Amino acid sequence: MGRRKKIVQECERLMDNPEHIRNIAIAAHVDHGKTTLSDNLLAGAGMISNETAGQQLAMDTKEDEQERGITIDAANVSMTHEYEDTNHLINLIDTPGHVDFGGDVTRAMRAVDGALVVVDAVEGAMPQTETVLRQALREGVKPALFINKVDRLINELQEGPEEMQQRLLDVIHDVNELIRGMTEEKDYDWTVSVEDGTVGFGSALYKWGVSMPSMQRTGIDFGDIMELERSGEEGRDELQERTPLSNVVLDMVAEHFPNPVDAQPRRIPTVWRGDPESELAESMRLVDEDGEVVFMSTDISMDPHAGEIATGRLFSGTIEKGQNLYVSGTAGTNRVQSVGIFMGGEREEVEKVPAGNIAAVTGLKDAIAGSTVSSVEMTPFESIEHISEPVITKS
Ligand code: GDP
Repeated sequence: MGRRKKIVQECERLMDNPEHIRNIAIAAHVDHGKTTLSDNLLAGAGMISNETAGQQLAMDTKEDEQERGITIDAANVSMTHEYEDTNHLINLIDTPGHVDFGGDVTRAMRAVDGALVVVDAVEGAMPQTETVLRQALREGVKPALFINKVDRLINELQEGPEEMQQRLLDVIHDVNELIRGMTEEKDYDWTVSVEDGTVGFGSALYKWGVSMPSMQRTGIDFGDIMELERSGEEGRDELQERTPLSNVVLDMVAEHFPNPVDAQPRRIPTVWRGDPESELAESMRLVDEDGEVVFMSTDISMDPHAGEIATGRLFSGTIEKGQNLYVSGTAGTNRVQSVGIFMGGEREEVEKVPAGNIAAVTGLKDAIAGSTVSSVEMTPFESIEHISEPVITKS
């Protein structure tokens, strides 16, 4: 059996256990390294080869994106990652990194429970960092921070250990100020910290990363990093080998982002105004795969063979071929033609997708991004508001 087939089978096996699922997005100010990091994770999970990571930009699926070098559409990919002897299914939604597509970022946030916010160590938090954080927090999505391009502090800016540490602390401080301001009236503290492992550092370009737990595990500290980064290609290869970025980031995802069972009870009341006492509400809170189907499409893409593909989050029930589902705002039902998951930007058909997952569904011809799709008529999800952003031109 091919490697890809094996990964698909493993994903299918893991889909049934919501506790081991993490639905996440990576979001960043343009050019801070979101695409390079995403590619790294895919390579780390065996989805694309290590050599192509960074060159291929696997998540940029549209030609115009490749030409323009920016990511426009939200593409999805599922991967598996072993953390503390347990395999996890990580569904990663790509978010556009350009201001013109703010609406798409918010839509992607509806489908996920955790957002890894990437910030360039040299530039620090920028206006879009604030926007993506706002989008995440308003949707009840938990943030974690990855400070990228740390290699530049060492090699370009020639910073010493203290200077570098201060700069990283400043970035964390700024991001926490933003988070605090946006969660004032919430009863949870979602600020990030090095100590609890919700902050990672590294270089997506040179494929190494560290966090407090990883440093404790590998014994690699900032002194080693500075020395190895400065010693050229060989040192960098050693860093990549001893503390690979994808491991550190995916461990962080598994450890700190909520699984659907933890996330949905909190998220449902913020995104759905239906009767909280109803069976439907209960089934969404419990991520009940035997409940009615409740799916929210967050993206529609076109496939030359399959037609429209509605991608989104399945909050309740199990979605499979042949079901007749209601689409909010339209009359009658649509028949599901196929269900699948995304692998490295390609859709893989599977027999069924249970609650808590990101699914790619064909046959929902009336669905648009933002539609509520369900096996019974229901109050639709809250519409996804676009957050307007300051106008920034790509440098
Ligand atoms: P995105 O717009 O956030 O998706 O950013 P990209 O991943 O496309 O990266 C923007 C630019 O920064 C590219 O030229 C990358 O090669 C570069 N880059 C990304 N990560 C790093 C890093 O860790 N270190 C350095 N020096 N450059 C990086």
